[in-house]
Amino acid sequence: MKYDSIIIGMGVAGIAAAIYAKRAGNNVLLLEKERPGGILNIIDNIENYPGFKKISGPDLSLQMFEQINELKIPYKIEEVIDITIQDDLKIVKTKKETYQCNNILIATGRSPILLGLPKEEELIGKGISTCALCDGTLYKNKNVAVVGGGNSALQEALYLSKIVKKIYLIHRREEFRAEKELIEKIKSSENIEIIYNSQITNYIEENGILTGIEINEAKELKIDGLFIYIGYAPKTDFAKKLNITNPAGYIEVDKNYETNVPGIYAAGDIIIKKVYQIITAASEGATAAIRFSRKN
Ligand SMILES: Cc1cc2nc3c(=O)[nH]c(=O)nc-3n(C[C@H](O)[C@H](O)[C@H](O)COP(=O)(O)OP(=O)(O)OC[C@H]3O[C@@H](n4cnc5c(N)ncnc54)[C@H](O)[C@@H]3O)c2cc1C
Repeated sequence: MKYDSIIIGMGVAGIAAAIYAKRAGNNVLLLEKERPGGILNIIDNIENYPGFKKISGPDLSLQMFEQINELKIPYKIEEVIDITIQDDLKIVKTKKETYQCNNILIATGRSPILLGLPKEEELIGKGISTCALCDGTLYKNKNVAVVGGGNSALQEALYLSKIVKKIYLIHRREEFRAEKELIEKIKSSENIEIIYNSQITNYIEENGILTGIEINEAKELKIDGLFIYIGYAPKTDFAKKLNITNPAGYIEVDKNYETNVPGIYAAGDIIIKKVYQIITAASEGATAAIRFSRKN
């Protein structure tokens, strides 16, 4: 099937782009591998997006999804596995179908990085989590650790502090690299103990369930759960052969959010940039869509 434009990813960037493209009269298709809203679905609380003094990530996702439906923008839950170029046409292959279009916007975001320690994969869901919002209540009145030192780690530690008994916040450096306001809230939180200059060096488990962690190859800490927020890896495997990514997998774009392949755009957490936020993702998606909608 042929479209003017195909947008890959239904996070903030992809949805913002779809709204602008559709309203500009584009014949647009959204492709999403999991669920609308993307990473918003794992965020407890958003307090810095204009128009919403305070909103949960899932609620914002739902409102965005309702907007897509109201505008009758077609979408399909299909994972994109390949993009090829035939003259001016772009071919997008999913696990189910193949589509053609003039322009593509890649807005596939990024996923949490794990620590890479032995048995980590097996312990996910059995004591190890990357989503406080999804799994926090499993640890009500229990002791957990959060690892990381950026905004996400601190924000999610604060969320967990209202549910769990005690949090050990483990950071490998001497200072956090998060917003000042968040750091102050963490420091004044009664049930958060900060452990600076420390790294988790091993997992301790019993019958396949996490029971503790080893820190700096020395001390052992008994915990019921561990939440990992140490960074993210871009989701661009399907676009590797287009030569539009840097060695870390992030996509390089110009000021119109177009890559070095004409007609292929990228926006949101997937691109090389300074600010990874909802407001920037929305703005980039919108800017790209305005640009490619004029070309169709
Ligand atoms: C814990 C946490 C808290 C945060 N808190 C805030 C906050 O308070 N305020 C703020 O402004 N920002 C916050 N952020 C950052 C913000 O959420 C992101 O910058 C923004 O949501 C990114 O949107 P996106 O559309 O680029 O990517 P995503 O939301 O990641 O969407 C990408 C979508 O693409 C889909 N996809 C991936 N690969 C494929 C494929 N091959 N085929 C089809 N679909 C695919 C994914 O399933 C996903 O739905 C937070 C982030 C985290 C992790």
